[in-house]
Amino acid sequence: MSALSHTALLVVGHGSTENPDSSKPYFDHAAAVRAQGIFAEVHLAFWKEEPSLREVLYQIDAQEIYVVPDFISEGYFTQEVIPRELELTGATTQVHGKTIHYCPPVGVHPTMTTILSQRVEQEAPEVPREETTLFVVGHGTALNDNTTRAVIDQANLLAKRFPEFAAVHATFMEQEMFIEDWDKHCETPYAVVVPFFIADGLHSYQDIPVLLGFEENEGLPASQKDIFRQNPYQIRGKTLYYTSAIGIEPAVGEVIIDQVHSFREQHAVTDPVPPTKGPSLAQRLADIVAGGVNHIGEIAILTDHEQAPYALCQYQDIAQQETLKVSRDPFEAHKIATLAADGHFRFTKGELSLKRGWLFLLENAEDLRQALDLFYPASFALWIAEQEGRLQIQNLRPKLQRQTGMYRYAHTISDEGAQKLIQKVCGPSNCCVKKILWALDENTPLVDSPANTWPGHLSGVDPQKTIPLYCREACNHFVSQARKAAKAEADAARVEKNPH
Ligand code: SF4
Repeated sequence: MSALSHTALLVVGHGSTENPDSSKPYFDHAAAVRAQGIFAEVHLAFWKEEPSLREVLYQIDAQEIYVVPDFISEGYFTQEVIPRELELTGATTQVHGKTIHYCPPVGVHPTMTTILSQRVEQEAPEVPREETTLFVVGHGTALNDNTTRAVIDQANLLAKRFPEFAAVHATFMEQEMFIEDWDKHCETPYAVVVPFFIADGLHSYQDIPVLLGFEENEGLPASQKDIFRQNPYQIRGKTLYYTSAIGIEPAVGEVIIDQVHSFREQHAVTDPVPPTKGPSLAQRLADIVAGGVNHIGEIAILTDHEQAPYALCQYQDIAQQETLKVSRDPFEAHKIATLAADGHFRFTKGELSLKRGWLFLLENAEDLRQALDLFYPASFALWIAEQEGRLQIQNLRPKLQRQTGMYRYAHTISDEGAQKLIQKVCGPSNCCVKKILWALDENTPLVDSPANTWPGHLSGVDPQKTIPLYCREACNHFVSQARKAAKAEADAARVEKNPH
């Protein structure tokens, strides 16, 4: 038995509220690590998607957790956001009875230079290198100086590895040297641009092509575009090759594992924390299903299927199971839960829009837990925590106050505006089936409304036989709507003060 066989790995990604492709590499990396069977559990958490960093710990059975940020650089997210959200105070922290080791992000690992160079070799193999300028593009931010460090370091390492290129530049979307000005720094007839991002999401598919000049406006998400296969682009008097993001390489899974081993070596971690005592979440799920619980959200949990101990389907499909497409892989649940039937991105999984037409046949309680955690991230664990009196609720004001960037403005929304917004955004009539547990702040409860008094399960199901979906803190969709409402309030106040 290895020193890691009782531990959990938590991979942390950014995620997106707009782009369904942004989180795909993280799921791929987690799957690659899981396949190796090194850790007892492998989990994912996101800043912008579910489960959130504040909720994922409820999902983890293991007492000892290695956290690896699936981020490119040591910077704002890895040094400020993730430690704050997970309540980490150093390399190893005791949090709510668990031992959490905080490893460096994947982007600073030496293998990333190899992955970058593979991108160049695969996607622009024929360029005459002495006539080519290589651009590595990162995001860049004024929030933390270190955010740019990994991009600059990688550009320098690439320059050493490929001395035959005419020049190698570190460039950024939001700071000097701006990628938008690539042609001003390109003295050669050829250019190769490599996005130093984990995901082919919003930035590499939609923003950078506009900045480079070969797309006129931000277009469709990655899954609906074919941007990289059109290389090379003839633009601004140059021949330009644009590669996909580096995080889509399967080798990143190995980098994640290596970051854990490096952490253990560097911090001399030797004594494994004892394994979890008491029943696992999977065992508890098996017990409550055996006790008669048969629904969660829009899903029916069936125990009478002749081919498997557990079956799942969309509740409207119960009577037509023989016509459904069967899967036996619980991780397929992520694909079904991502897009609604009309193709829109279900980034809030409480949304009443779960596709129909599928049937999961699951061999054991662990597979059942995995599938349900992908359909409704952390929901079963939050319910258990609530029953045991250890669920921490986050009220709206502190939630809005810890927003950053453009979302910081959301906290200026008035109490009245927030109460109205809940009625507009939440509740089943607005397509979210979750039960709200939070208040505006500790002195300001929510006013009664259909959205606020919703019980967290569909009408017509037996509440005693249903795992309720809890909204422990306002979701990112609500935050983005709060920002818009706050801006509208400020605009209205300006007009009232100065009508002309
Ligand atoms: S904030 Fe509202 S819309 Fe978002 S998850 Fe909670 S209940 Fe649903």
